[in-house]
Amino acid sequence: MFDATAVADHVAAVRVRIATAGDREVELIAVTKTFPVEAIQAVMAAGCRAIGENYAQELVAKIEALTAAGCAEADRPEVHFIGHVQTNKVRLLAPVVTVWETVDRPAIVLEIAKRAPGARIFVQVNVSGEEQKHGCRPDETDGLVRRAGEAGLRVEGLMTIGVMGDPDAARAGFRTLRTLATSLGLHGCSMGMSDDLEIAVEEGATHVRVGSALFGPRVRDGHGDLR
Ligand SMILES: *Cc1c(COP(=O)(O)O)cnc(C)c1O
Repeated sequence: MFDATAVADHVAAVRVRIATAGDREVELIAVTKTFPVEAIQAVMAAGCRAIGENYAQELVAKIEALTAAGCAEADRPEVHFIGHVQTNKVRLLAPVVTVWETVDRPAIVLEIAKRAPGARIFVQVNVSGEEQKHGCRPDETDGLVRRAGEAGLRVEGLMTIGVMGDPDAARAGFRTLRTLATSLGLHGCSMGMSDDLEIAVEEGATHVRVGSALFGPRVRDGHGDLR
């Protein structure tokens, strides 16, 4: 059974954490990956406007389940795609994704521009230089933002994943992202997750992506790796 009351309590607690860290408007993106469609319904009932999902098939199946449960298209949450996006999945995702947060290379810019003209995007930046992380290099960001604009996409900001388990390194990375975004004239900064959202808000996040603080720990993500 999915405990919607507990989720509502956790949403309220996360909103307090955000407000305590900074007195700005920060969008809470409820990361529902690996959790059932009831998780989406629970956060919507708790007033969240946006969800985050990582996997194409899983997301499409949940949107179908929402529709089957009577949710009209206009009543759906904003869907932020926050997983690594493969070019061959863009067509499947285009009808359900509101904001593409992981645009990190020219090929994906072109494919999104083709399948979802004018789409809202964030450019993902690997600010820490960790090898296993996706995202363009900081010095590639300007060019990619420009290309996306030329392709007709609406670049709303930059996105990054913080360094895990090292608050000082996470803060340095968030600061780099905020500086980069501002220098490119972009308002949006999607940064901060359950464990580091305060640091991200202090460093100027406009969007935080929060999963486990709302729903509890994820066991496995179905792709064999723990995230
Ligand atoms: C899973 C995920 C999150 C949420 O992580 P939590 O630690 O559960 O809050 C945020 N951003 C991205 C890109 C993710 O993959």
